[in-house]
Amino acid sequence: MAKVVIVGAGLGGTLMAYEMKTELGKGDSLTVIGQGPLYHFVPSNPWVAAGWRDRDEVEIDITQVMARKGIEYLSQGAARVHADENRVELTDGSSVPYDYLVIATGPDLAFDEIPGLGPQGFTQSICHVDHAEKAFAALEQFCANPGPIVVGAVQGASCFGPAYEFAFILDTELRKRRIRDKVPMTFVTPEPYIGHLGLDGVGDTKGLMESQLRQRHIKWITNARLHHVESGKMTVEEIGEDGALRKTHELPFGYAMMLPAFRGVPAVRGVEGLTNPRGFVIIDKQQRNPKYPNVFGIGVGVAIAPVGPTPVPVGVPKTGFMIESMVTATAKNIGALLRGEKPVAEASWNAVCLADFGDGGVAFVAEPQIPPRNVNWSAQGRWVHYAKVAFERYFIRKIRKGESEPIYERWIMEGLGIRRLAAPRNKGEAA
Ligand SMILES: Cc1cc2nc3c(=O)[nH]c(=O)nc-3n(C[C@H](O)[C@H](O)[C@H](O)COP(=O)(O)OP(=O)(O)OC[C@H]3O[C@@H](n4cnc5c(N)ncnc54)[C@H](O)[C@@H]3O)c2cc1C
Repeated sequence: MAKVVIVGAGLGGTLMAYEMKTELGKGDSLTVIGQGPLYHFVPSNPWVAAGWRDRDEVEIDITQVMARKGIEYLSQGAARVHADENRVELTDGSSVPYDYLVIATGPDLAFDEIPGLGPQGFTQSICHVDHAEKAFAALEQFCANPGPIVVGAVQGASCFGPAYEFAFILDTELRKRRIRDKVPMTFVTPEPYIGHLGLDGVGDTKGLMESQLRQRHIKWITNARLHHVESGKMTVEEIGEDGALRKTHELPFGYAMMLPAFRGVPAVRGVEGLTNPRGFVIIDKQQRNPKYPNVFGIGVGVAIAPVGPTPVPVGVPKTGFMIESMVTATAKNIGALLRGEKPVAEASWNAVCLADFGDGGVAFVAEPQIPPRNVNWSAQGRWVHYAKVAFERYFIRKIRKGESEPIYERWIMEGLGIRRLAAPRNKGEAA
C-alpha cells in the first residue's frame, strides 16, 4: 500500500494525477497538492490579454474533477518539500507523507531579477491568467492613447513561442482596431537569431518568423539583455558574438510585455541534491531525481541543459506535448515500482507546438529536441489559428473529463509518428 503525492495541479500535475490513477494497485492512494481550487489553461493567456477570451472560459474547478475521480485534492499549497523525511509541508503547517512524490510545480517567475520588470513594475506579463487580465486592462488604456509597443523575452527566458504569439496577436488586434498605423512595434529577445526558440530553430522557423515580423512591420533586436525598465522606457543592451556590449538601446513604450526568466518554486528551491542552483528539479532519463529516487519531476520545473552556448543565456522551452510525454513516462515508472518492476520508461520529449498569430500562425515538430533531428518540421498558415482554437477546446475538455490521453488521441498522434515514450533501447545501448 503506497502513497503517491503530486505537488502542483497545472498542465502537468493534473494530467499526472489522471494517468497515475490508472497505475495504482489496490490500497495505493493518490493525493494532489495544488494552490487553490482552480485550474487555468496557460496557453490561452495571450488571448485573455488581447480580450479574445474571458477568464472563466479557460478556468476549471479542479476540486470537483478530482473528487469525481476519487483523488484526494489539497488546495492549501506546499510550503516545503522535505525530501530527507519523505514529506511535504503545507502552508497551514500540516504535513503530507509520501512513498513517491511527483513535483509538477511549474515556474517561479523571476521578475525581481531585472529592475522595473513585471506587473509590479512597468511591463505586462501573460504567464498567469491574473497577469493576462491586467495586461488586457492596460491594453484598453493604451488603445485610447497609442504609442510604441515593445514585446519579447528577457535573458535566461526559456519560453519564446508565447512572446512571438503575443506580438503577432497584438498586431492583429491593433489592425482590427484600425490604430496599427499609430504603433511602432519592436520585438526584443535574447535569442541569437529570430526563430531560435531555445531549440536552435525548428525547420525554417528562422525564415518563417523573420518574414512574419517583416510583413507586420515589427522591428527586432536579438542577443538582447534587458538592463532595466522605467516608466515608459526600457534600456536594452545588444550583445555581440564575442559577449561584448555592442550597443545600448533606449526603447520608449506606451505598452510592453516581456516574458521573465523562470526558476524553480520556493517550495523546492535550495533543497540540496533535489534541485539545481536555479531551483529546477534534477532528473534522470526516467524523470527520477538521482539523490532521492522516490521523487520525480515533470513540466517546466525540471532542469534541462540549454541546446548550446549563446551570447545571451537562452533556456530550453518545455512545451505541452513534451510535458505530456514526461507525465506518461513518470506514471509508467511509478507504476512499475509499485509492482516491484524496474522503471524503464523514457519520455520522448518531442516538441510539438502551435503558435497562433490571430489570423494565422506557425506550427512545428522537433524530434528529438536537440538537433540534428529525425523530425525537424515547421509550417505556417491560417489553419494553425483554427488548429490552436480546436486544441484549446479539446484540452480543456480533457481536463474537465479527467482524461490524460484518450485512445483516439494516441491513434492520431501515432499516425503522425509522434509518440509520448522514447523507443526502447537496444541491448547494450547506454541509458
Ligand atoms: C503564456 C504561455 C503560453 C504557453 N503556450 C503554450 C502553447 O501554446 N503550447 C505549448 O505546448 N506550451 C505552451 N506553454 C508552455 C507550457 O505548456 C505551459 O507553461 C504549461 O502550463 C506548463 O505546465 P506545468 O505543469 O509545468 O506548469 P503550470 O501549468 O504552470 O502548473 C504549475 C502548477 O503548480 C502550482 N504550484 C506552484 N507552486 C506550488 C506549491 N508550492 N504548492 C502547490 N502547487 C504549486 C501552480 O499554482 C500551478 O498550478 C506556454 C507557457 C506560457 C507561460
